[in-house]
Amino acid sequence: MHQADNAEPIIYGRGDSPPKAEGRLLSVVCIKQVPDTTEIKIDPEKGTLVREGIPAVVNPTDLNAAEEALRIKDRFGGKVVAMTMGPPQAESALRELLAMGVDRAILLTDRALAGADTYATSYAVHMAIKRLEKEEGPLDLLFFGNKALDGETGQTGPGVAARLNLPIITYTVKLEEVNVRNRRVVAVRKADDMVERVEVPLPAAFSVLEEINRPRRASIEGILRSMKAKLDVWNKDTIGADPTKTGLAGSPTIVKRMFVPKPRGRGEIFDGRQDPVAAARWLADKIFSTKYFKGGRIGEVSGGEGEAVQPVVRHDPKSPHNGVWVYVEQNEGRVAEVSWELLGEGKKIARKLDTVLEAVVIGADAEGIAREALEYGATTVYLIEHPLLRHYRTLPYAKAFTELAATKRPQVILIGATRNGRDLAGVVATKLGTGLTADCTMLDVEPGTGLMLQIRPTFGGSQLAVIMTPKHMPQMSTVRPGVFPKPDKVLPKGEVIKLAVDISEGEVPTKVLDFSFVERSGQVQEADIIVSGGLGMSSAKNFQLIGELAKALGGAVGASRKAVESGFADKDAQVGQTGKTVRPKLYIAVGISGAIQHLVGMQGSETVMAINLDPDAPIFNSCNYGVIGDALKILPPLTEEVKGRMKARGEGR
Ligand SMILES: Cc1cc2nc3c(=O)[nH]c(=O)nc-3n(C[C@H](O)[C@H](O)[C@H](O)COP(=O)(O)OP(=O)(O)OC[C@H]3O[C@@H](n4cnc5c(N)ncnc54)[C@H](O)[C@@H]3O)c2cc1C
Repeated sequence: MHQADNAEPIIYGRGDSPPKAEGRLLSVVCIKQVPDTTEIKIDPEKGTLVREGIPAVVNPTDLNAAEEALRIKDRFGGKVVAMTMGPPQAESALRELLAMGVDRAILLTDRALAGADTYATSYAVHMAIKRLEKEEGPLDLLFFGNKALDGETGQTGPGVAARLNLPIITYTVKLEEVNVRNRRVVAVRKADDMVERVEVPLPAAFSVLEEINRPRRASIEGILRSMKAKLDVWNKDTIGADPTKTGLAGSPTIVKRMFVPKPRGRGEIFDGRQDPVAAARWLADKIFSTKYFKGGRIGEVSGGEGEAVQPVVRHDPKSPHNGVWVYVEQNEGRVAEVSWELLGEGKKIARKLDTVLEAVVIGADAEGIAREALEYGATTVYLIEHPLLRHYRTLPYAKAFTELAATKRPQVILIGATRNGRDLAGVVATKLGTGLTADCTMLDVEPGTGLMLQIRPTFGGSQLAVIMTPKHMPQMSTVRPGVFPKPDKVLPKGEVIKLAVDISEGEVPTKVLDFSFVERSGQVQEADIIVSGGLGMSSAKNFQLIGELAKALGGAVGASRKAVESGFADKDAQVGQTGKTVRPKLYIAVGISGAIQHLVGMQGSETVMAINLDPDAPIFNSCNYGVIGDALKILPPLTEEVKGRMKARGEGR
């Protein structure tokens, strides 16, 4: 049990006017220094990241985490401690937080801690927090940014929280109520297709999204104070870390190699500056000659049974580990589509490993979903049902999953990289003591060793890393939705095994107060066609032209961050590093320059088209077809052209 559970309750904020006096509330903010992505350029020849001379900054959502902790301190008093693990240069990141107003900064730096994956990082950070608690007393609130710009795993927060036995609320967009008297917090969290209000007792951890607040700017006094402030520099001995559990030595995953994905390159460009109508017709021709319009729509793709995948190793019958598991994610009876996609891909991996494909379903009244998993090719489906599992909550789900995995001992666990999937995977991997490769876009098996090759984009998607978990079982990956086709259903051959889990409401710290589903239709992540607008649309009124083209094509509206910040579109429409990652069949970028932070969110699109006034706009180097010209003049005839052709196809709207 966490130390703070036995501590005296902290009483602040009685009634409507809480005392502002310094109190004992302790917040810890974990931050990371990352390369400044605004400065990042892609080498146009090699298509690689130009890393030289890139300044380092505090990971942006970590600033949101610090801001939230400081707001709590502003209201209730107390102390905010910032902590980072990194090279000695990370000191400058901590000074930035001191300038914002944090009270104490701890730099955890040691060669023995370097090269850590998320598992070893969460070990070191949790040891440092335990050490801090010896000095400062038990912590109350622990904050993380949602994910770091470089690694983009989002797993450190759940890993640290799991090790400290703290409940964690991931993807927090609001701390609606912080009741220090009752020691409870009501937070709003955004999962993929639902928004939920959750109540959690203190101490608790939160990972926050960018939209939670706007980080304050440091004052001149703050900057001066931070320059003089003394930092605590800790090493592995200060925190009493076991050197076999830190750094490279303590990391279950290794990066086997990095490679550069084939760049899309400069597309076919039409100069439409003189004749917008001709430009519109040219682009319409390109749109209607895409694979999407010529046939082969999503859902018609077939996979699964038809493919003759051969084993690359023979399964060792004496091995205690057997089977490829796919977690079939459901919430309130809604299945995340990525689960079915993973059953298709999981079958191939299982064949290569000469083993079985099994599925895990956790929920209440979920037998129908378990039976459907059999139709998608699972030979055994483990179904864990309990009324308390109707709605996803980290701890009971993680408990059910971990206990099952510890008993049945699969070789491989695949989980969809949805928000709840990542939340669950981070805790399960930590509890099982194994590695986790987040956000994979390709999977394979190494001949000979039979180890999984887990391939994921790193920094801005300009490189792909091949990651392995050589010495730990199970090998765990989360996999991005939409990268593998949904397989065809087959005649079910397997069985559903029902299992019980022993949980009571009393042992589940988080309570879901209410939730609502966000309508999926019209959302960028669900759409086959996205028309995205940028700052080049110049006003909210002009931005309506984007919606009109999207509607004519039966697609969704996307936006660049600048378009969102200018109030042209909702935050939910934002595509990019701090927005949504999309992989539609067709992506049309209009008045968008093509900054790397935008490109990383849409470069998995099958076909990319762009309209831009500037012939040198970077977007033209990452598209299949581009039109140079004024979008305000090209969009109206383009929409008319599209409407006419859709009508002729019998699809007009
Ligand atoms: C940490 C971080 C995270 C970020 N996350 C994201 C993210 O998730 N998503 C994102 O999009 N950005 C993100 N950004 C911002 C990103 O760096 C760019 O600033 C942003 O993408 C630019 O938006 P834009 O292309 O609409 O605007 P601009 O870069 O200003 O480009 C506007 C374009 O419109 C063109 N144009 C102007 N008038 C017309 C016209 N009449 N017709 C046609 N074209 C015209 C111009 O030639 C120009 O190319 C992030 C930045 C940081 C630092």
